[in-house]
Amino acid sequence: PPLYRQRYQFVVDYVQTYRPRKVIDLGCADCCLLGKLKFHRDCVQLLVGVDINAASLLKRRRSLAPLMSDYLQPSNGPLTIELYQGSVTEREPCTRGFDLVTCVELIEHLELAEVESFSDVVFGYMAPGAVIISTPNSEFNPLLPGLRGFRNYDHKFEWTRSEFQGWAYRVCREYGYSVQFTGVGEAFDCWTDVGFCTQIGVFQRNYDGTNWSMTTTEHLEPSVYRLLYRVVY
Ligand code: SAM
Repeated sequence: PPLYRQRYQFVVDYVQTYRPRKVIDLGCADCCLLGKLKFHRDCVQLLVGVDINAASLLKRRRSLAPLMSDYLQPSNGPLTIELYQGSVTEREPCTRGFDLVTCVELIEHLELAEVESFSDVVFGYMAPGAVIISTPNSEFNPLLPGLRGFRNYDHKFEWTRSEFQGWAYRVCREYGYSVQFTGVGEAFDCWTDVGFCTQIGVFQRNYDGTNWSMTTTEHLEPSVYRLLYRVVY
């Protein structure tokens, strides 16, 4: 399967294994990943998508609405899906208390100074139980045919494994998380020492603390972000 599907599948597998109730996807673009996670109502109760680009957020919003089959399966739990326009560099109260934050191919679109705010917002302020971050591994780039420079014109940087891991370990020390590294898109033959095409960090909050989502049923209204779409199953 193409790389972007492998990235989504990685998150779907994680959700199936760890069964988070509240999941927020940062930089969700046209909500493709949310469209897959909505089929996991045996655990997921709240799905939120955030992007700075309102047009791409709304492009495929209809794919998030209930299907006929959703009404035919009363055993499914309740599910709310919300889409917000906003920047991941800003603190938004309604993004706190999540079990899982996902950031698929987002950070390399931020300026390095913005990555600092992003780290503080996600790990320091939102402080979710777990965070999944994927970003290109620049060590893999020589294997991509015809590539000169970055993989996308909008990328502000592309990190080697040690650059990504250096940032990740610093974030862990600062905000009390642990991280494990993996990826998707494997090289073949003699090229195995370059790592994965997409590198992924899976962060786990160290202090246990009953998750807010387990104790709080209240979900705050947005104060910085703009709510563009909400559907309740
Ligand atoms: N996660 C999606 C995926 O894997 O298909 C889309 C990734 S796309 C390459 C990066 C997305 O990040 C774009 O939709 C862009 O609008 C969004 N983005 C860039 N800067 C952002 C910011 N500061 N806050 C929120 N979203 C941002």
